[in-house]
Amino acid sequence: MTRKVDEAIDALLAYLLPPQCTLCGAAGVDRLPLCAGCRDELPWLATACRLCAQPLPVAGVCGHCLRRPPPQDGAHAAFRYAPPLDRLVQGLKFGRRLGLARLTGALLAQAATAQHWPRPDLLIPVPLHDTRLRQRGYDQAQVLAREVGRRLDVPVNWRTCQRVRATAPQSGLDRVARRRNVRGAFAVTKPPGVDHVAVLDDVMTTGATVGALVTALKRAGVAQVDVWTLCRAGR
Ligand SMILES: [Zn+2]
Ligand SMILES: [Zn+2]
Repeated sequence: MTRKVDEAIDALLAYLLPPQCTLCGAAGVDRLPLCAGCRDELPWLATACRLCAQPLPVAGVCGHCLRRPPPQDGAHAAFRYAPPLDRLVQGLKFGRRLGLARLTGALLAQAATAQHWPRPDLLIPVPLHDTRLRQRGYDQAQVLAREVGRRLDVPVNWRTCQRVRATAPQSGLDRVARRRNVRGAFAVTKPPGVDHVAVLDDVMTTGATVGALVTALKRAGVAQVDVWTLCRAGR
């Protein structure tokens, strides 16, 4: 039902407002507000660490993950966190531009398909804490996950996990402090009852936040937990 409504809204918007490229104003392609030229110039992430999605010259496992393997089984990012993705993500986060969620969700879904990311049984967006959710009005990981799920036909569930503790912003903290800051931040309120989950976020930096959620899901009995993210920021 929701999907039919979403598709009807897409079709209606495309009819009423033929999409213009959000970056340069040229005509969009694939009913998205992005032109072919700007799409090709985006900082697509081609080769990365398979455990943390850190950009690497050739695909493999990075030094950090060799020394201290992260809790997730795999990690995938569509882009490096570089212009103009930083602008798109900031708009997604603070500008309340749900249209950007459609665009970035479509791009993430394209990357997942083109690069054959293993298809999970369920997508779980990294939850915001209630106070932050109330301040912001909506949860960008959730709207992104809904768009990706709709396009890839993977169910999305944002009710199985909760952020039980508000955490200080991660920016400005080093790796160890970030891990400490988010330890125990998530609780799985209802085990998802599937074998393979991908947790989804808009930006991954050190992976500490998403790692805390992965750990909670593994403890709740999920055998394989991957991380899907729109962009990977370098460390
Ligand atoms: Zn353009
Ligand atoms: Zn790595």
